[in-house]
Amino acid sequence: MEIKYIDIHSHLNLSPLSENKEAILAKMRELGVATITVGTGLATSRDAVKIAEENTGWCFATVGIHPCHACGGEAEEYNGEELEKLAVHPAVVAIGETGLDYFHEDTPESRSIQEDVFKKHIALAAKVGKSLMLHVRASKGSDDAYYDALEVLNSCNYSGKANFHFFSGSRECMEKIVEAGYTVSVDGPITFTNEYDEMIKAVPLDKIMIETDAPFAAPKPYRGKPCEPWMVIEVAKRIAELKGLDEEEVRTCLLENAKAFFGLDF
Ligand SMILES: [Zn+2]
Repeated sequence: MEIKYIDIHSHLNLSPLSENKEAILAKMRELGVATITVGTGLATSRDAVKIAEENTGWCFATVGIHPCHACGGEAEEYNGEELEKLAVHPAVVAIGETGLDYFHEDTPESRSIQEDVFKKHIALAAKVGKSLMLHVRASKGSDDAYYDALEVLNSCNYSGKANFHFFSGSRECMEKIVEAGYTVSVDGPITFTNEYDEMIKAVPLDKIMIETDAPFAAPKPYRGKPCEPWMVIEVAKRIAELKGLDEEEVRTCLLENAKAFFGLDF
């Protein structure tokens, strides 16, 4: 299969995609869309690795404990030993999703749990030499969690790569992230709201990647349906449109960005 796009963040390990996996994978193969299945806890991390093992060379995985799951009691599930065992698997291309979510979990206690679990993931990524897949979501109308996440990375002397998945911060915030040497990825909503326009026009083309976060956030014209990784094509098209660039040029660049970031060699 010739890979034309890679959806760098999806959840084929979550319902309803997990039930229809074979049909979805067939459609992806037909359209040349690869993906990275993201773990949100230990069980889904194991599933992500399994999906990658069954689809070598075009499905990859990440392993980690989502910050909201960490607050929901899975902090204890942060079993360093098992996560590390999964993390060294050759199909695992990043650690996460991990980070800070002040939108869903915002008490002093949950902030402290999230930070603690985030730091463990940073240490793991550094140890196994893989990139970080960050889930950061700020309080409503703010960029607070993004700046805190940058500070945590800095305080850990992290020198590896990190991508802010489903980036929904301001243009200024994106600029701080890029300045720190990190990247952002964007999703379906860029096709149906104008909130991201300014940020996308401003972001350097080599600092942005595309994803779906499937089954969530389907792009136009599939809104209301469960999102599937092949729909990432619409996200790429919208970036080209917003930047006034040739679709093919943007597609190639987005593919190269992901290959370099995750160390993929297809
Ligand atoms: Zn996700």
